[in-house]
Amino acid sequence: MVFSFNTTYEDLDSDLYCKVAPKDIDNPEILVINDGLCADIGLDTSELNATILAGQDLTEESIAQAYAGHQYGSFTLLGDGRAMILGEHVHENNRYDIQLKGSGRTPYSGRGDGNATVSSMLREYLYSYAMQNLNIKTSRSLAVIETEETVERRRTEPGAILVRVMNSHIRYGTFQYVAAQVSNELPRFTDYVIDRHYPELNTKDRTYLEFFDAVMQSSIEMVIDWLRVGFIHGVMNTDNMSIDGETFDYGPCAFMNYYDEEAVFSSIDKHGRYAFGNQRPILRWNLERFAEALQPLCAQSALTYDELEDKLDEFEDRFDAQYYTMMRRKLGINSDGEEELVDEFVEWLRKSSADYTNTFLELEMPGTFDDPAFATTEFERLRNKLTAVGLDAELMQEANPRYIPRNYLVEEALDEYIETGDLSKFKRLLTVLKDPYTSTDLGSRFQQPPSREFDTEYVTY
Ligand code: AMP
Ligand code: MG
Ligand code: MG
Repeated sequence: MVFSFNTTYEDLDSDLYCKVAPKDIDNPEILVINDGLCADIGLDTSELNATILAGQDLTEESIAQAYAGHQYGSFTLLGDGRAMILGEHVHENNRYDIQLKGSGRTPYSGRGDGNATVSSMLREYLYSYAMQNLNIKTSRSLAVIETEETVERRRTEPGAILVRVMNSHIRYGTFQYVAAQVSNELPRFTDYVIDRHYPELNTKDRTYLEFFDAVMQSSIEMVIDWLRVGFIHGVMNTDNMSIDGETFDYGPCAFMNYYDEEAVFSSIDKHGRYAFGNQRPILRWNLERFAEALQPLCAQSALTYDELEDKLDEFEDRFDAQYYTMMRRKLGINSDGEEELVDEFVEWLRKSSADYTNTFLELEMPGTFDDPAFATTEFERLRNKLTAVGLDAELMQEANPRYIPRNYLVEEALDEYIETGDLSKFKRLLTVLKDPYTSTDLGSRFQQPPSREFDTEYVTY
């Protein structure tokens, strides 16, 4: 076996998962494989093939996890409806879930077909690859395997399986599931999650309270990183919030072009619940639901709900402090403070709706882009003000990507593959996104925002 499996999730209460098997697949084909990730987790690429990656050559049973979640505000019982964990792969003291997405139906599928389209799996591969290279904590994609089946969505496409790697797929919603269905298991489950993700907390006095604190902290760090690069997750349901602060479930996500806090790319997010600027209040809302899920723990340990509420009350100050630290880096400000200048700059972004990514590159090196917003006296005035306290090039280069996956370029590359079977545009995007903080010879074409009328290319899924 290529993987070193040791699957501890199976030792938990049997209500938390179901044993499942990936569907049979004839002639699976590897479309992309992530050599860097293979190396990072100790997999020998010469031993991997499409059959293994499609879960056709297993020595152990796979599992689908049960969870619950608030989807667009409404609580629902859920579970992996089209995903299966092949096992927990252990490499150099690190444990990774190896999960297949699109590998067929499970007991949690409901009316879903258990399948995924090749364009949506290639899309997830690319976005998670970009996020990893932007130094943002994320699920990673090991490979996309195409199948011979066809899947009906907005268009008919080949089916595909994504092989996804995460520290774990445990989410706020898993706690919500345990609290709702098997609340007596909550202490044991929480201990398991602490041992797996936050073992350093075991030596602390108030381990459960510290656990809540640590989850809040890792989630704040994640969302601040999203705000740094203009990422819009698109579906911040509590079942898509990782307990370890890993960005995951790349559905109708996108990177913002023109600055707009109301930017949404998902065709189903009609009211902008998960808009760019709403990600902060929604994180707080999700943490409140997570705290509620820990209520049964309060009845069974020294933890009190008041303590959790006090922690939640720290949210705004903690988020603010980390937000300003991040924005100071983007503006190359080495000192503390300067919150007013940051606010003034963001106000300019709001008013000008300039391209978010390119704005910071233009600050670093004026004259790079010919956007009229950068030729205004107001921009010049702000740049002069910033020169006095910031614009440290080294600081800025680490915080501001040169390249993001421009949504319209991603859709173009995916369309080309579906229409002609040619993956070269897609692979060129991967090459550019391999090192998004460094300019490449491939040129400024990838830095070009779409025309404003085509900005919000909606993603259905
Ligand atoms: P998401 O909105 O991607 O987080 O998915 C919400 C839930 O729907 C998850 O529990 C998925 O497993 C399930 N789901 C999504 N698509 C399918 C599908 N095609 N077949 C079965 N279940 C699905
Ligand atoms: Mg999900
Ligand atoms: Mg999804």
